[in-house]
Amino acid sequence: KAKEAGKGTYVIYGRDMQQHFDERMVIESHLRNAIANQELSLHYQPLVDTASGGIWGFEALIRWNSPVLGFVSPLSFIKIAEDCRLIVPIGEWVLRTACQFIKDLHGQGYEGYHISVNISVIQLMLDDFTDMVLGVLQETGLPPEYLELEITESIFMESFEAISTKLESLKEKGIGIALDDFGTGYSSLSYLKQLPITTLKIDKSFIDSIDTPNNMSLARSIVTIGHDMGLNVTAEGVETPEQLAFLERTRCDKIQGYFISKPIPQQDVADWVKGRRAG
Ligand code: C2E
Ligand code: MG
Ligand code: MG
Ligand code: MG
Repeated sequence: KAKEAGKGTYVIYGRDMQQHFDERMVIESHLRNAIANQELSLHYQPLVDTASGGIWGFEALIRWNSPVLGFVSPLSFIKIAEDCRLIVPIGEWVLRTACQFIKDLHGQGYEGYHISVNISVIQLMLDDFTDMVLGVLQETGLPPEYLELEITESIFMESFEAISTKLESLKEKGIGIALDDFGTGYSSLSYLKQLPITTLKIDKSFIDSIDTPNNMSLARSIVTIGHDMGLNVTAEGVETPEQLAFLERTRCDKIQGYFISKPIPQQDVADWVKGRRAG
């Protein structure tokens, strides 16, 4: 193929591949020490209960400030962390830090808030995943009903049976299971029925242009399907009052997005909650 395209094309193509590879190696090598060097932190984005307007809880979102590379987006390093399996210790660090934080918040008089944590399919494939999660809850003292795990449709590509069994046992303990970025992946509705989940999280792409009739009916259908299956439905990426009004009308259970708040650094969360409660 490269030969057909001609020598010049081959050289350019080759150099891009090399650059791409180098970039991954650089990120991987710096990521390797990121936990120990305390370069990772969590931001928390509020999730609001649509009916009451009250705060349901927060989604924990990882941030990496590398002294060499600067701020690196999770959109660029999570995939690399998955490929080199660094996501295993990183994911455990995220879960422990987030559970500890929300438990501390409860202790400071901010009771009842939940925490949603993104889990990679690589973590879900580990034999000791269930024990790891239960261990973190025990260590931090956070009751299981305040934790929600966010998984993605990529689990349908992996050892589906084994993963389902683990999720089922966590769900039985009272932990919530949300299917994140719903609608962008591979899942058919028949698969969805087999999956032990409690929440559907509608992907931002369906919320983005809710004023176009097609997207509006898609978003509305997802809410209906979710409710018919006995699930809660969350909308992510809500940016405008029009989107919020539409989601209220369709009885979407929870909303999350810049219209409520961007993700907040850990040390600023209590102040944000105070401000919102004050009016
Ligand atoms: P996600 O789990 O779907 O998280 C939502 C992403 O959308 C976040 O990006 C959030 O900041 C962004 N977002 C929320 N509301 C709005 C909005 O109204 N407008 C716009 N434009 N964006 C909004 P972020 O923090 O950059 O994270 C990107 C992705 O990286 C996440 O998507 C998730 O897949 C992954 N990720 C983040 N933290 C972790 C983690 O701790 N573990 C794992 N495995 N993945 C993570
Ligand atoms: Mg998420
Ligand atoms: Mg999401
Ligand atoms: Mg998303």
